[in-house]
Amino acid sequence: MTGQEAHNGGTLATDRTALAARAWLEWQVAMGVHDAADEFLPKPRSLQPAVAKPADPVRDAAKAARPATVSAPVARLDRESVAGARRIAQACTSLEELREALEHFEGCALRKTATRLCFADGNPESRIMLIGEAPGSEEDRQGKPFVGPSGQLLDRMLATIGLDRTRVWITNVIFWRPPGNRAPTGAEIAVCQPFLERQIELLNPSILVFVGGIAARALLGKDDGVTRLRGHRYAYGGDGLAAPIPALVMFHPAYLLRSPLNKRFAWRDLLTLQAWLGELGVTVRH
Ligand code: URA
Repeated sequence: MTGQEAHNGGTLATDRTALAARAWLEWQVAMGVHDAADEFLPKPRSLQPAVAKPADPVRDAAKAARPATVSAPVARLDRESVAGARRIAQACTSLEELREALEHFEGCALRKTATRLCFADGNPESRIMLIGEAPGSEEDRQGKPFVGPSGQLLDRMLATIGLDRTRVWITNVIFWRPPGNRAPTGAEIAVCQPFLERQIELLNPSILVFVGGIAARALLGKDDGVTRLRGHRYAYGGDGLAAPIPALVMFHPAYLLRSPLNKRFAWRDLLTLQAWLGELGVTVRH
């Protein structure tokens, strides 16, 4: 190795370290850290917050994004509706046809209370598909997934590994907002799922990212919570796929907004995603 090569190697290593440090810093900012972080250190009693907390935009956004705790109404699984949904979805030969079919689909009662369909957003040529839970109020207003407070956090999280909406395809398990942001019922998930599965077949991405436990459980057929599901590599296999698609599970950004200690796991998951994309040869911008 020449002196120049050794020097260049050193520069490269320094550049990589600088890039990693920058990404880490951007991540911290994305997660709402604006001062030197001391959240893991015990505070002297006199410095602990009083019971009434002052206004905090990050905390308030998290509160607004929190799903309602009321239990979802128990709805009977309507097998005929699911079979009908599957027939309609399977007949679609493009994402646009699928969107159009959903516009006219009457088999999910949520469409009656929602303002509009919230199908998907991003690049239909993308190799990376993210699947969240269900539209919230802002998504219902705009007809696009992840455009409210948790979507803004998701965008900032993706940016730390060089991704944005021109490089990913984002959709949800549920295509209409559940009233009051309640959790979707099993019947609602079941009737939307044929459209989601067809969407995956038509996009045929190189990697699937399940954003939150609902997407992971629906598509992996598992009962575990997201804390158990994240951190592992899965393969999603559908009937209409030539080969199973690698999949990983991440914490939902709405959950991260209200559980900041889990930021570190989300950061790890992003790094796993980045590494996995590298292995799969999917290029991202830096
Ligand atoms: N949460 C989701 O899971 N999806 C959205 O589109 C918005 C919030």
